Amino acid sequence: MDYELARQMLRLPSLLEVPSVMVIEPHPDDNEVGAGALVKQWCDQGVAVTYLTVTDGRCGSEDPTVSVDDVIRVRREERRAANRILGVKASYNLGFEDGGAWTEHQSMQALVPLIRQFRPALVLTVDPWTPYESHPDHVKTGKAVAASIIYAKNGVAFRGQGDPWEVPQIAFYGSAYANVFVDVTATWDTKLAAIKAHASQFDGPSWPLLEQFFTSQAHKLYQEHYDSNTAGRSEAFKVLTALQMHFFPDAVRS
Ligand SMILES: [Zn+2]
Repeated sequence: MDYELARQMLRLPSLLEVPSVMVIEPHPDDNEVGAGALVKQWCDQGVAVTYLTVTDGRCGSEDPTVSVDDVIRVRREERRAANRILGVKASYNLGFEDGGAWTEHQSMQALVPLIRQFRPALVLTVDPWTPYESHPDHVKTGKAVAASIIYAKNGVAFRGQGDPWEVPQIAFYGSAYANVFVDVTATWDTKLAAIKAHASQFDGPSWPLLEQFFTSQAHKLYQEHYDSNTAGRSEAFKVLTALQMHFFPDAVRS
């Protein structure tokens, strides 16, 4: 069973029709790189968007003479600047140490109550199962978010930490197994501006090359899935129903 069939059978809205989403990133900037143009589209449509950043982003500087507190402060300011560009109004940081020894379960203890509080129709995060993904914060975050969806609906797990809430769908950015391609031509330039707002990470000599790389990837996706003759842009996502998230080997091909 593929995702689209499962979604229709369960009468779930499409990615562009969801009323509320939580977008959960390992570091301050991942949401923009993975899904900034879709997020802008959601905000323009009045979708209730809540951002969660799992770590403090302290490894965002490779200069050992810069204080950790300064890096964290700068990255929080950049997160706010990117939010303003996209129109994201609700944004929280869980404060786990970037590159730290925190576990998937520890982050679930923070994530499950928040999912129960915000009751999203869809959760979007990074795909931890993309082959060769080697950043532990990305792997832990993606897996913790997926596992939190399983436990958020279970009244016995995380008892006393909010009323159970079933998230019907999950979407992943940065996926090698994308199955939904969104035409984001109209919001592409805003995505690039939001990425660049993370100035400590992107606004340097390599930005022109990076911008070109992001755009050529998005153009290639658009040509493959929409129109090979026009210069559109597309973002790609792996989307699954909650049903497909457990004991469902076919999900990788969904
Ligand atoms: Zn990251």
